[in-house]
Amino acid sequence: MGRMSGYQPSRWDKTLTSMVRTIAGQSHELYCVEQVDIVQPELEKIAALNDRHLEKLAFVLLVYAKSKNKMNPNNNGWVSQKTKVLLKEAGVSRLKNKELLIYELTRKGYITPSRVVDREDVQVNFAVEIGEAGIAIRDFRDIVHYYSRWKEGGARYTHCSDCGLLFRRASNNAKYCAGCKKERELAWKRENMRKRRLAFVE
Ligand SMILES: [Zn+2]
Repeated sequence: MGRMSGYQPSRWDKTLTSMVRTIAGQSHELYCVEQVDIVQPELEKIAALNDRHLEKLAFVLLVYAKSKNKMNPNNNGWVSQKTKVLLKEAGVSRLKNKELLIYELTRKGYITPSRVVDREDVQVNFAVEIGEAGIAIRDFRDIVHYYSRWKEGGARYTHCSDCGLLFRRASNNAKYCAGCKKERELAWKRENMRKRRLAFVE
């Protein structure tokens, strides 16, 4: 392969790094659809759980179910993602009682587990197609933040100025997500080192 014109190693590195980070962070399943729309009746149904861990997991399950429904109209709300991955996406994988969350959603009728032995598949029962617009998801990184933003009100959340990721701000003027902030700090350090080295040579 010949040299690409306009090839900039540092820029390219950065793109690759963020791509790898993105792909490692979640499943490929969600990337097959352009957009998933969550409507108000669904959000209200989730909020009615009145338990933030259950709510987050229910939201993640709903997004997966709706994206699969989009890919396959006969899917009927089934999610075949591993429980481990779903718990992680919902930010509840470190909870001691995490195994109980799936059980609780089942008991409350939000989901139905597969009857096939050794299958983790669950069917999401509260997806609806019609209703007042709620959340439109086009960027499937850290999807649970969309629910938190809806629940807590928008002020605390913003999209990263570098990569567009929705993240929770530590302060009101924070512009970059944790990953991009770190990259910026590293780039700044490298640039400083380079300047210092140049100054030394001269
Ligand atoms: Zn970012």
